Amino acid sequence: MEDGLLKAISADGTIRAVIATTTGLVESARKRHNLSFTAAAALGRALTGGVLLAPVVAREGQVLLKFHGNGPLGKIFVDASPHGTARGYVENPQLELPLNSLGNFDVGTAVGNTGYLHVTVDHGFGRPHTSTVELASGEIGEDINRYLVTSEQAGSIVVVGCHLTRKGVEAAGGLIIQLLPDHTEETICKIENNITTFGTFTFLMRRGMTLEAILHRILNGFDVRTLGEVKPTKFACKCTNERFIEALKIFGKEDLLSMAEEDGQAEGRCHFCNEFYYVNKEGLLDLAKGSG
Ligand SMILES: [Zn+2]
Repeated sequence: MEDGLLKAISADGTIRAVIATTTGLVESARKRHNLSFTAAAALGRALTGGVLLAPVVAREGQVLLKFHGNGPLGKIFVDASPHGTARGYVENPQLELPLNSLGNFDVGTAVGNTGYLHVTVDHGFGRPHTSTVELASGEIGEDINRYLVTSEQAGSIVVVGCHLTRKGVEAAGGLIIQLLPDHTEETICKIENNITTFGTFTFLMRRGMTLEAILHRILNGFDVRTLGEVKPTKFACKCTNERFIEALKIFGKEDLLSMAEEDGQAEGRCHFCNEFYYVNKEGLLDLAKGSG
């Protein structure tokens, strides 16, 4: 199944939903950062959460999520656009923990249940706005839900999942359902009922169901209309060699010359995608020539 992002609304105006599959995106992050199972599960959920949250809170621009819990994984950073792209990393990519009592990767303990989720929304114009909520559990989905309920002042359901095997990411995806003002108690009951009976999101994916089929399964009983086309989801970073060179210009002529003479090179690594950048001695001397 092709990975994608899709928006939908119910004809009765009680709910709207964003649904996404992110298997390739999360597998790309796992490989780039050489993630452990625990770290892949955590970053996989956070990347999926970013892909889902971005179109809910920003039409353009980007959304930056920072999970800062007290667990051994350290901070998680995710940068997502409303168009299905995201990049991200964790502070301790090799951290591995035993499975929790439910037999799942212990994301909650890895992230920690005390701390904060910071969400910065940058609409692409004006000043970015940051909101902070306390972590609900460190399980990622519940934390994003707490942010949504606080910032949007409306009920929501957030599901994010990542299924991993020794071969890598087998399925990753999730959805955000927002309750609109016309919803009733019955709306919530129906959705919760569907969710408890459908099996996990990644279970449906592994059965080969399409994005639309999963959407209709979870929103069974609603007259669901999809909005727009399916957008492909993928891991995408903004770093380039030109940007690395641009960043080196922060150093003045003196510093660039001493880098060239003493180190004979300058190198850097992009946190978000782990791409390696390098400028040799001649490159540094050229830069020094160009700077005042
Ligand atoms: Zn990068």
